[in-house]
Parts: sequence; C-alpha cells; structure tokens
Amino acid sequence: MTRILIVNPQAPEPDLIAEAAAVIRAGGLVAFPTETVYGLGANALDPEAVASIFVAKERPTEDPLIVHLASVDDLPRVVRQIPETARQLAQAFWPGPLTIIFPRHDDLPRGVTAGLDTVAVRVPSHPVAIALLQASGVPIAAPSANRFGFTSPTAARHVFTDLEGRIDMILDGGSPTIGVESTVLDISVLPARILRPGGVSREALQGVLGKVDVFDGTAAEVEKKPLPSPGMMSRHYAPRATLILFQGADTQAVIQRMRQEAELYLQQGERVGVLVAEEDQIAFTGSGAAVKSIGSAGDALQIARNLYAGLRGLDESGMDVILARDFGVEGLGLAILDRLQRAASRLVQVESSS
Ligand code: AMP
Ligand code: MG
Repeated sequence: MTRILIVNPQAPEPDLIAEAAAVIRAGGLVAFPTETVYGLGANALDPEAVASIFVAKERPTEDPLIVHLASVDDLPRVVRQIPETARQLAQAFWPGPLTIIFPRHDDLPRGVTAGLDTVAVRVPSHPVAIALLQASGVPIAAPSANRFGFTSPTAARHVFTDLEGRIDMILDGGSPTIGVESTVLDISVLPARILRPGGVSREALQGVLGKVDVFDGTAAEVEKKPLPSPGMMSRHYAPRATLILFQGADTQAVIQRMRQEAELYLQQGERVGVLVAEEDQIAFTGSGAAVKSIGSAGDALQIARNLYAGLRGLDESGMDVILARDFGVEGLGLAILDRLQRAASRLVQVESSS
C-alpha cells in the first residue's frame, strides 16, 4: 500500500518528514516534491533499495539515476574527485536544478550509475527535498516518479496514478516551481556540454563557464554512436496519445498550420487536443479541438510549470492526437523544446508565410 502524507511545501512538518526519512533508511521508496518534478527516492548507498526503484518504475537498468545531496559538503560520500569547475558551478547554482556528472565513488552501488564510472549529482532547493535529505542522513537516488517513458509528474496525483501500490509513500507538497527536469551537465570535456537541457539555462551556465555546448542526442542516435548519457533515448516523456510538434519562427504560420491539421484529424473522427499558449487559444474557437492553454508564450517559466500537467490532462481526457507548438530556445524554452521533441511521434517544420 502507498501512504500519502500532505506536507507544507514551504515549512514541512518535522514529524511527517521523520516518518518519510525512516522509510528511506529502512530501504523503502518515497516519492517527494523537488523544484523540478516529483522524484522517486531511495537510499543511494543501499543496493537493494536502488534496485527497487527500477522495478517500481519499470525502468531499464542501463538508465543511471541522479543522486541527491543535502549539501555540497556531502559530495565526498558519492564522488571520488571534485573538479574546480564543479565547485564554481555548485557555488553558483546549488541548491538548484543543475545536475553535474562526477567520477563516481568506488563504494557507490553499481546500480545507481548503471555500471558507468561516473555519477550524476545535484543538491535540490525544494524545502521538502532538503528536509528529507537532512532527516534521512543518506544520499538519495531519485529519478522522476513516473512509469518509465511516460510524462514526469508535477503533482502528487500524477505519482499516485503511475506508481500506486508499487511504492511505500508519497509526500504531497503541491506543485514544483519549475516543472521540467534538471539540466544535466558534463564537465569532463571543454567546453562543458549540456547532456539534457533543464531548469538551469544554457545562458546562465555560460555566465559562469563561458562557452557551453549542447549535446544533440538525436543526431548521435541516427549515427548509432554510443550515447554519453545512456538514458537519453529520443522517445521519452511521452503521453499515450500521438503527439505532433509544430516548429517554426513564424508563430502565426505555425498556429494556422496546426488549425488546418486539427481539422483534418477531426474529419477522420479522431479526438484532437491542442497544447498552446493563452494567446493562441482564439485561433481554435469553434474548431472542435480540445484546447489546453499552458500559459503566456512570453513566460517560459509558466509554460514549463504547466507543460507536463497539460500533456497529462489532454491524455486523460482521451485524446487520440495532441498538436503542440514550440516556444523558442531561449532560457527554459530549450528544455521545453527538448521534452516536446522527445514526446513527439512527428515533427512538422513550418516555413514563414511571407
Ligand atoms: P531522471 O532521473 O529520470 O531525471 O533521469 C536522469 C538522467 O540523467 C538519466 O536518464 C541519464 O540520461 C542522466 N544521467 C544520469 N547519470 C548519468 C551519468 N553518469 N552520465 C551521463 N548521464 C547521466
Ligand atoms: Mg525520468
């Protein structure tokens, strides 16, 4: 049975956190809110607890986990060396949504890193996550608390839908402030390379490191190269419905094309949902499509925060096809685009109309 404890997201109740920490120390699984998405946590130093994460999520064992720490001071427990660059980054971005790849500590269970010689680590900023880490006194390995391949959870309800009966506890601390996963950064190369865009933007990293590259997983997969980040296969974060992503610099043209495609699918008797910005909604009035607005197009944080709940919402209302638009590549836009691309079955590049 899965117990749900409702906690105050700003000031989590110590007695509730103590209960959750006891579950972690006993080798159990606790889902908890972070500033990115809900994580599914286990004691990172307990091989059996770590193995049970993979079972609960049905996650392939080749997909390594992120280790969460209460503080940068705990790094020596899980890594064998701390590069100067990592210290700078930790100073600038921890606690926060940046995951850094380190050489792994020899004592860390193999399962955490899927056999790799490196380990992904971050210090989260969410008060509930920090309280749980402090109270349990161990590093916590935690992937997103969803079934493998599906959309990451941004509400306790999402976790419950995916993992009820498979995990011991859910700490319900409301909605994460960012809504997409952490940025995964490889600092073993120069320039440093983003393996997964996320909550810390490329621009912000460049402010500290100078040039930062973005690894293009899709291209490497096409060439069948080994991936530097094993879990990053392209189809991921996906809803059940078929997602079609419309991209293009000319928003007007993108929306017009979406409206046309929506009509085609509707004529074929398909249930169509569109995932758009507030400003785009009017273009679909009377179209017969279910319209889901996830915020103002100019506010990437709002879009990121509502993205996964928007996808889940359309999925749960039984759509066959979901049409979505991109929101550029600046700031959080890059992470939003990355997740939409991974979730999409088809990409449509829309040329400018003029
Ligand atoms: P999740 O915990 O579901 O947000 O996913 C964590 C992701 O971080 C994995 O799917 C990997 O792609 C990436 N990752 C974790 N550990 C490593 C590592 N040692 N090297 C490169 N990428 C990693
Ligand atoms: Mg995940």
